[in-house]
Amino acid sequence: MSVLGVYGVKRAASLIYYGLHAMQHRGQEGCGIVSVNERGEMNRHRGKGLVSEIFNEQKIAELDGELAIGHVLYTGAASRSMDNIQPLFFHHGSGDFAVANNGNIVNAAKLRSWLESKGSLFHSMTDSELLAHLIKKECSEEPRIYAIIEALNLLEGAFAFLIMTKNRLYACRDRHGLHPLSIGRIGEGYVVASESCALDTMGAEFVRDVEPGEIVTIDHKGLRSSFYSQERKCKMCAMEYIYFARPDSDVDGCNVHAYRKESGRRLFKEAPADADIVIGVPDSSLSAAQGYSEESGMPYEMGLIKNKYVGRTFIQPSQDLREKGVKMKLSAVRSIVNGKRVVMVDDSIVRGTTSRRIVNMLREAGATEVHVRIASPTMTHPCFYGVDTSTLDELLLARMSVEEACKAIGADSLAFLSYDSTLKSAAGRTDMCLACFDGNYPTALFQSIEEANK
Ligand code: AMP
Ligand code: SF4
Repeated sequence: MSVLGVYGVKRAASLIYYGLHAMQHRGQEGCGIVSVNERGEMNRHRGKGLVSEIFNEQKIAELDGELAIGHVLYTGAASRSMDNIQPLFFHHGSGDFAVANNGNIVNAAKLRSWLESKGSLFHSMTDSELLAHLIKKECSEEPRIYAIIEALNLLEGAFAFLIMTKNRLYACRDRHGLHPLSIGRIGEGYVVASESCALDTMGAEFVRDVEPGEIVTIDHKGLRSSFYSQERKCKMCAMEYIYFARPDSDVDGCNVHAYRKESGRRLFKEAPADADIVIGVPDSSLSAAQGYSEESGMPYEMGLIKNKYVGRTFIQPSQDLREKGVKMKLSAVRSIVNGKRVVMVDDSIVRGTTSRRIVNMLREAGATEVHVRIASPTMTHPCFYGVDTSTLDELLLARMSVEEACKAIGADSLAFLSYDSTLKSAAGRTDMCLACFDGNYPTALFQSIEEANK
């Protein structure tokens, strides 16, 4: 998932449109934009599908104004009904407001039943709606920031909320700093985005990241900062570096390509393989494969090609076509791998489906040996913070040892990066969330892993 906000820039919605395109890799299920026009009215357009499928010039033109927020919804998000496509937008006596979020609140179920017992009625399953109810649970004359601080203090888990009123934008990041949120500047205006690559696409200059536990208020006075909690940590999600973010993004000041290259170098030092060539699985593993190649001295080759035009709307092949070997997304390059001992670097193994398929594909294309190297540790625990890393009983390495997994995917050898190197590949970082690898969750979970598995 990802959020994007623009304050004080003409045709804010068209900028959001370009920024959402740049963050399309963070969610393909749905997207939306809400803008505030000159009369202070909010307009929204949203839908299920890719940014290019939902928006056109006319739709963007209808969303006029200099203040807007947008959202893309993650494929793994729990419920994909239209009601859950964000940003959500609310009418209220004190003024309309809109909310979008990237993350997952772990005590949401408890808070929802508490609010329902007090008379709240929910339209969606989103944490954005939960936050809206919490902000408005008591009508008060106090400035809105107090209600926001109070509401955020009730939440546990991962969030990066954007709250938009008719003349103000609030950017709020959870106190563990689990997901990224960056601020940029365009002329006299501001941009807030889940990933810094969106700032570059929009022509914004990076200003700084929203800090863990911080609420940044953006309005005619410029930027102002408040903290909703004094208990703050820097537990950035390791999967942002490993898989999720684009290589040209900087996550908490560390470039993602540089991280992955360093992880690849370390992977070779920890798990060298004797082979002829190194290949990466496009796109997320290419940087790590380059690092492995540089450290080992083995040539980096383009052994796998990804078809960039296979979108989510592509008709899935029938079982018959699948058996005939129709490979839509990835193909092995026979002229490169034929007769070679190959090191295949991938960023992670979740269910093991991808690795098994690719090892098979490489052997069919003539590879004599396939050594799989994974640029992250064994994934043994589910994520509760909004990243779809699958349920416990689907995780391959939660069910079997590395030796068994090697057999299951049909590789000649299999090795993973250590925890230590996963952390140290991010220059200057001393901490991050690695809970899906070691079960050391930075927050209380409010449910057992078994319950979450149901
Ligand atoms: P699997 O086939 O289930 O083992 O998934 C592993 C592949 O999925 C790797 O090649 C990763 O690039 C990719 N991946 C890792 N984490 C995620 C995620 N949270 N959502 C979607 N894909 C992922
Ligand atoms: Fe990221 Fe894993 Fe932590 Fe979830 S559990 S936030 S995927 S590191």
